[in-house]
Amino acid sequence: MTLDHRAVSARNTFAGPPIDRIHARRRDEPWLAQQLADPATRLLFLWRSRTLVTAGDSARPATFPAAGAEPLLAAAESVTLLGRDGSSSLWVAVDLPDGAPPPEALTRAGEFRDLRELAPSLPAEESALLCQARALAYWHRRHQFCGVCGHPTRSAEAGHLRQCTNEACAEQHFPRTDPAIIVLVTSMGRCLLGRQSGWPPGRFSTVAGFVEPGESVEEAVAREVEEETGVVVGRVSYHSSQPWPFPASVMLGFTAEAREETIRLDDELEEARWFSAHDLRAALKAGTVRLPGPISIAYRLIEHWYDAQGPERLETVGLAPW
Ligand SMILES: [Zn+2]
Repeated sequence: MTLDHRAVSARNTFAGPPIDRIHARRRDEPWLAQQLADPATRLLFLWRSRTLVTAGDSARPATFPAAGAEPLLAAAESVTLLGRDGSSSLWVAVDLPDGAPPPEALTRAGEFRDLRELAPSLPAEESALLCQARALAYWHRRHQFCGVCGHPTRSAEAGHLRQCTNEACAEQHFPRTDPAIIVLVTSMGRCLLGRQSGWPPGRFSTVAGFVEPGESVEEAVAREVEEETGVVVGRVSYHSSQPWPFPASVMLGFTAEAREETIRLDDELEEARWFSAHDLRAALKAGTVRLPGPISIAYRLIEHWYDAQGPERLETVGLAPW
């Protein structure tokens, strides 16, 4: 299958930050120091995994010039170069220490909010940039110590590497992304949706789970579907992917065709059901089923299938969001 990555994945929220990641300059420390003194360099602040945005309903990232922010940079948990935008400004993520409230100079400019809650109302490019910042800040926090020898690590390469400070070890730790599969299973004009017992009433979604070591993603798709629903799948097709920094995943989206429709639940799902487009529409209209929000790849997979059943598009059905 041939995919145009701009046409497919870029429609998924959080994909495609509008920047050049300037990989080649990350090791150039004198250049980096110069950039951090440049008034055009923009700082994005995070605190307790929340991002500083302007207050009010139409929140946007509240950025600060790097010049003059030296004390904040010195006290930060991590400082990571995100990249260069179309107007040649550098964007840098600064994760503030958890233990103290953020400085007043920042909270006067806005408030720290959760990206998942903000994403539906942010421009796509900004969601993507905040996703990158959140994912890297989380990784730094979880890799303060070397997993090989236990000594502290230090940030290097503009925040894209953590170097073990024990010279005898010198292990290099790179940012981690955990692959997870998410799959819409279909059979003869119906799709399979399930719900976990802890979810709000009526919430249904696709099957998802982490890829295990030593497993291909196609095998993970088949295993997760069978574990959660008892359904055996045949043909598996890739759809698109989505960075999902809650806390550190990339979601690999698939569709899969069931070989047979018998459902046998395990402990993970409370219920799983086959829905025709007609069933799903009626349940959505009645409010007895609620789908994941449009920022999720789960929604995109369901939408892709529903719209192909025709003639109506899922976005016109009128969703009650989670
Ligand atoms: Zn080490």
